[in-house]
Amino acid sequence: MDFDDPGPRPAGPQLDELADLFADGPAALLTGAGISTDSGIPDYRGAGRPPRRPMSIDQFTRDEPYRRRFWAGARVGALRTADVEPNEGHRAAAGLEAAGRLTGVVTQNVDGLHGRAGSIELAELHGNGSVIRCVETDHRFSRSEVLDWFDVANPGFAERHADAEITPDGDAAVTGTEGVRVPVCPACGGMLRPDVVYFGEHVPSGVFAHAERIVGAAAALLVAGSSLAVNTGIRLVHRAEQRGIPIAVINRGATAIDGRPSVRVRVEGGTSEWLGALGARLGA
Ligand SMILES: [Zn+2]
Repeated sequence: MDFDDPGPRPAGPQLDELADLFADGPAALLTGAGISTDSGIPDYRGAGRPPRRPMSIDQFTRDEPYRRRFWAGARVGALRTADVEPNEGHRAAAGLEAAGRLTGVVTQNVDGLHGRAGSIELAELHGNGSVIRCVETDHRFSRSEVLDWFDVANPGFAERHADAEITPDGDAAVTGTEGVRVPVCPACGGMLRPDVVYFGEHVPSGVFAHAERIVGAAAALLVAGSSLAVNTGIRLVHRAEQRGIPIAVINRGATAIDGRPSVRVRVEGGTSEWLGALGARLGA
């Protein structure tokens, strides 16, 4: 197999089949890491990559050296990701919703790119990494303002470590973090953490209920850029199957639901080109 082969162009019978999915009303869109790879965010579950080591919330809250490495990595990583923007796939999703073709977007991603692209009815199952919250009082701050506090407490650190290797989960290969001063909540001194769902935590019930409403109101479910390795994604697929609505999958690489009778369309390809083509077809 030639990995440089972009695959079939978004046209022909498969695009017709995807468009047909919307014949009975708006669809729900479920997305995963694959929709953000074209924005330069690596998919650590993608083909040929080692499995991602999930960060546990116990590790974060109990291990002070780990927290120092996390914030140091977050600060240095921000130098690299400052220019990350929504791509054609995110824009197509927002356009389809604006055109009345989607009941909403449910995403497993924490990069916030769907919201930045203009999606309104949006359930972020695993939270949003650009939001930082205080574990004591639920005060909320933006990641950029907390990183400004990091700079004040650790002058020159980001510049000195600008070349360090960064992993997407923030456990960066930044060395020399022993003296790092970790930012705390300016209102109460509490521990600060990203507002994301870590390994060992559950999707907040209100967020999952929102996702269920988006799927429950839809005439079809379109999965884009997810191998459905995450349990919450599978639960939403089951919800769609219980309702008897058709499912379509756009993904590079195998998914957990390939071959199931409920999957009416299975496109092997990238989300940017296929969602873009679908948006153009449906007049979004
Ligand atoms: Zn606080």
